[in-house]
Amino acid sequence: MEVSFINLRDITYLASGGPAHVWQATTVAELKAFTEQFHTFRVLGNGSNVIISSAGLTEPALMLDGDFKKIKLKGNDVIAGAGAGLKDVIKKSAAAGLCGLENLSGIPASVGGAVFKNAGAFGSAISDVLKWLRFYRSGREYRISGGMIKASYRTGPVPIPAVILEACFSLRKKAGKKIIDRIKELTAKRKEKGFIYKNGSGCIFRNPAGIPAGKLIEQCGCSRWRAGGVSVSPLHANVFVLRGGRPADDAYELMSRIRARVYEAQGVYLETLVEFWGRFGK
Ligand SMILES: Cc1cc2nc3c(=O)[nH]c(=O)nc-3n(C[C@H](O)[C@H](O)[C@H](O)COP(=O)(O)OP(=O)(O)OC[C@H]3O[C@@H](n4cnc5c(N)ncnc54)[C@H](O)[C@@H]3O)c2cc1C
Repeated sequence: MEVSFINLRDITYLASGGPAHVWQATTVAELKAFTEQFHTFRVLGNGSNVIISSAGLTEPALMLDGDFKKIKLKGNDVIAGAGAGLKDVIKKSAAAGLCGLENLSGIPASVGGAVFKNAGAFGSAISDVLKWLRFYRSGREYRISGGMIKASYRTGPVPIPAVILEACFSLRKKAGKKIIDRIKELTAKRKEKGFIYKNGSGCIFRNPAGIPAGKLIEQCGCSRWRAGGVSVSPLHANVFVLRGGRPADDAYELMSRIRARVYEAQGVYLETLVEFWGRFGK
């Protein structure tokens, strides 16, 4: 199993982070050996929902490669390894005239990260088309399907900790051209909504009941706030633009200040949707 000591900033979508030992599992046997050796570790997908301290990680990071990157078609089902890119799954499905995932196009996720977070957009979530999934936990492999799959807003169906191995999506037949047109239409909408912006994050905070977090942030006067190189996106108040030499540390500071302001002004404690990994603060 390959292990490297690298800066996570160089391999994560949000390009934050510091040094860490990264283990690449390419087969279930390698994954098993890894989990027998380490009891505390991080599973890293495409790094689009994690902001990692510039101090790096003390625990090892596990990434999935090799067998876990395969994408297979079986009738109307698409079976994808957790390490595969969601965009590749959508592309392959569209080419085969299979629809059902296009609302998620533009989300820069791996399959594992998307299933873990129950990624969603435009009124649908990945769990809507999830037929079954395989995951690994405490030395055992599990497969859940149908009614056993319970997911909710940005909370996927696997217990923590677990490593998602593979997922099967049940799709529908549709003309390939229509699927591609829909993907183009949604990509334009994403740009409009501020979710495709240079160095932009996804949503920093979960939406509390009754009001989008972005609206609350605007109402509390934080839309133009910044900390160091990180600022609130001019297009969407629940998105940060990450720049500068220590983006994770600046993002953590900005997130904490906004959270304090919103709590003070509206009595709502915003929970983060993006995950902060590593050591932050003084
Ligand atoms: C520009 C942009 C737009 C975005 N738009 C959306 C959107 O529209 N909708 C939305 O829902 N999200 C959106 N996001 C957020 C993000 O893309 C999703 O949360 C995505 O699901 C994260 O996938 P990832 O592979 O990058 O996971 P990572 O960021 O690497 O990890 C996220 C979490 O998933 C866990 N994880 C990853 N792989 C596995 C695995 N194999 N087994 C177990 N756990 C695993 C990690 O441990 C971590 O807890 C956006 C992000 C960006 C930067």
